[in-house]
Amino acid sequence: MWSVQALVVHLLLLGSILSIYFQSTVLSDLNPLSTLRELGLEPPADRLVVFVVDGLRAESVLAHNCSAVPDLRELFIEHGLVGISRACPPTVTRPGHIAIFGGFNEDPAAALTNFGWNPSTFDTVFNRSRNAIGWTQDVVAKVFTHLPTGGAPLRFETFSRSEISGRLRLDEWIFNKVRNFLTKEENVRPLRNATSVVFFVYLADIDLAGHAFTPYGASFQEKLNFTQRGIRQTYELFESVFNDSRTAYLLTADHGMNDAGQHGGGGDREVETPFILWGSGVKDAAPDPGQNFTANNEGLTLPLYQLEQTQLAPLMSALIGLPAPMNNIALLPLGFLNTSIQYELQALHLNAMQLLAQARILIKRHEDGILYLWLPKFESLDSAQIDGYALRIQFLVAEQHYEQALKISQKTAKVAQECLEYYHGYYHLSLLVATTASYLLWFYLLLVQLTRESIQPRSERRGFLSWSTLLMALGGLLLLELMILQRVPYLTAFYLLLPFGILIVAVAERPLEGSGVMFQFPILHLVGIVVPAGLLILMAFHNSHIGLLYFLLVCLNNRRAFFRPSLKFFFWLALVILLSGILVVKQNSSLDFITDAIEDYLHKSNVVYFSMVLSVIRPLIQRHRHAKRAWIINIAALLASAYGIYQWDTDQPVCTYVYAACWSYLAFAFLSIPYSGTKELRRRLELIIFNMLTVHIMLTISMASLFVQIMVTEFVLGLELYEESNKAREIKNRSLDEEGNQDGNQVQEESQIERPVTPLEHLRLSYRYAALILLYFYVSFFGTGHWFFNFTFKPITSRLFFAQFQLHMIAAFILLKIFIPSIIVMSSIYALVSFGRKNVRSIFICLFLMNDTMSLYFCYFVNNRGSWQEVRQSLDHLLVTHVFIIILLVCSWIAKAFLINTTEVKPPRTAQVQVLDNAIALVGDSQA
Ligand SMILES: [Zn+2]
Repeated sequence: MWSVQALVVHLLLLGSILSIYFQSTVLSDLNPLSTLRELGLEPPADRLVVFVVDGLRAESVLAHNCSAVPDLRELFIEHGLVGISRACPPTVTRPGHIAIFGGFNEDPAAALTNFGWNPSTFDTVFNRSRNAIGWTQDVVAKVFTHLPTGGAPLRFETFSRSEISGRLRLDEWIFNKVRNFLTKEENVRPLRNATSVVFFVYLADIDLAGHAFTPYGASFQEKLNFTQRGIRQTYELFESVFNDSRTAYLLTADHGMNDAGQHGGGGDREVETPFILWGSGVKDAAPDPGQNFTANNEGLTLPLYQLEQTQLAPLMSALIGLPAPMNNIALLPLGFLNTSIQYELQALHLNAMQLLAQARILIKRHEDGILYLWLPKFESLDSAQIDGYALRIQFLVAEQHYEQALKISQKTAKVAQECLEYYHGYYHLSLLVATTASYLLWFYLLLVQLTRESIQPRSERRGFLSWSTLLMALGGLLLLELMILQRVPYLTAFYLLLPFGILIVAVAERPLEGSGVMFQFPILHLVGIVVPAGLLILMAFHNSHIGLLYFLLVCLNNRRAFFRPSLKFFFWLALVILLSGILVVKQNSSLDFITDAIEDYLHKSNVVYFSMVLSVIRPLIQRHRHAKRAWIINIAALLASAYGIYQWDTDQPVCTYVYAACWSYLAFAFLSIPYSGTKELRRRLELIIFNMLTVHIMLTISMASLFVQIMVTEFVLGLELYEESNKAREIKNRSLDEEGNQDGNQVQEESQIERPVTPLEHLRLSYRYAALILLYFYVSFFGTGHWFFNFTFKPITSRLFFAQFQLHMIAAFILLKIFIPSIIVMSSIYALVSFGRKNVRSIFICLFLMNDTMSLYFCYFVNNRGSWQEVRQSLDHLLVTHVFIIILLVCSWIAKAFLINTTEVKPPRTAQVQVLDNAIALVGDSQA
């Protein structure tokens, strides 16, 4: 029951955080405005050709007096506007295209799908045009083709990467397709008299060339030269086919690229994309931007215009007489159109009306609430002002005060932009406060439960039937009613009320006797929660010092063993130093030369073969006693995997028998443990370790298994040493107490009787084991090569289980690989420590407290905008702290199932412990 409660609360907390940062801001229920032609104005162009060169940065066009693009230069020197359009990070293909054709920066909700998909539908220039023809890659077409078009589907001809053979031949394919289309009269005839036509020409090669050769590479320059000549030829083809000077052209890019040939971030080179605008309806010179560039080697300087990438959408729309797309947030730049002032005014007016339409929805939603008068609102705009705006413009136009009307339109549009931003973030702060309150109340609930667990005999809980819970529930209902009447969005209302729900559960959890509000040992709780959480955040997440953290914490935990040196202790210490060393080397890129040298020397698979041998030798050295059956099956499974890996490495198809063997072993490894017949805890644990490590090797590509084997050996040894030194200390204390009265034999016997644990000890031990589980989870997570910054999804992980790529199954296997070490760690604690076995719940409550402190901290640093990497990283932090704690809970269930049907009776003593600093030689029990 308690674990189901924890699961639900964790999911709700995650949902609460996501509702703060990732609610969609794209509005539906908008209506398209009339076109300029419908308003009686003739647009300056009938058709628009848009070339989007994927990954072309402004610098590639402008560098060295534009010498990289000689054919385009001839075009824009004569008649054209050149400038920089600034993209908004993440600078990747999909958000770039949405900004260009939709006029808004990608919805924050899309961050949840890694910017691969947008949960809401939106409007684009293509949909407004109702006559869109394009040649593009399938992945780009998918951004637009699923959107509602109102019965005028986009006519996109697409290719997929796999269809076109030969490297960097995609642009050639596109140019040929455009030529084929335009040279057929039956295609062109219906378009000759059509208006508001959009042609979309997508060119992918520059992005690929940039990735492969960097923007400075000779091959990149060659490719750029080919593409820009193709654009010039396509332009000339359009002109010759239509030959009516009614075509406008735009060349731009979805995103730029840094000097290393990568993109995604917010660097200048990545966000600065070029735009070149020419043809019908484009002015020769726009208002002076105050910036120039040298256009040719003769020193001709031209103005360099500056736009936001989203502004291209209203600009393109105005050129062919369309209203801006309905979800457009950008403002039409003035002075770019070669038209009358009436036309420009009407285009801007439509732009303002379309922004106001969006603002009106949000304002109305707010004004309809009954608490509207008492709540803060956006002061500069309300419904009455929106109504008044259109009338005012009408009046000014009738009076022919165009300049003044233009100014008012522009000002109103800007106010509408601010208003949209204000209401989109309206509940941000209250949600953040509510989420924090939910967390704090959850902590309170956990502490109440922990306190009840620690006191024996455990007291009864109050339950839900009390006056306080009833009153609180009533209060919650009242608040809910108010929120419904205020028309708060349902999801927001739900998460604003979440703290109430948790509070009611917490109050019901309080013990029947005593107040239960004041906790005993507040300092212990504070230190127990904050120190491990803080250290992990600081040393594992913000800095790469987990190696150091591990070394310090493990040594501190086993500090008593330092005073009782034995062979076992030195072996353990050597393993600790080795593991810390590996972690330090792996996490410092300045030490890469060490790993590189090792990798040069050893083939990856050789490391795996070595891990296999070690996994058999290790139990032999440690004198583990396994049934003959277990030895045979494990060795056979390892041999089959070795053969499979050999086949994989030599590019042969992995034999079906190997798949069958691996799958059968996987089932055997898990199922055979509870039914193994071994009743003794220690032997059961040895079997768990043996089987789980074999499964882990099957999923290993290189070093990971070696690391986990060392870690597991160290962990079990460390636990044994800890228990031994504790026992010895207890015996010593008692013998000092009763010195002279009794002989050694009696003392020894007494120590065998387990005395009850005091509440203080209970809490201390719970925090200790929780911290150990958390620490070892992160050690194995980082140590086996999972990093937040380049968490690469390696399908090769399951090469011994699948012949084909199966995304979800592979993800499941990667998770299994990540959590096998944690299963072993928990099994060891439950098997070797009787406190751990009996108090799983207390340990997990402490684990939740530590982990959730970390996730509360990360909750304040979530990025839903900005560089692709930052967004990914902040989301990864959230997911690691939220999802992995739930999987750790599952690991605990598995560990408990593995240990089912074992005897709790202590096995006969096998190890002799020497107490060096004590004259009394006592024999302690090393195996609890
Ligand atoms: Zn790219």
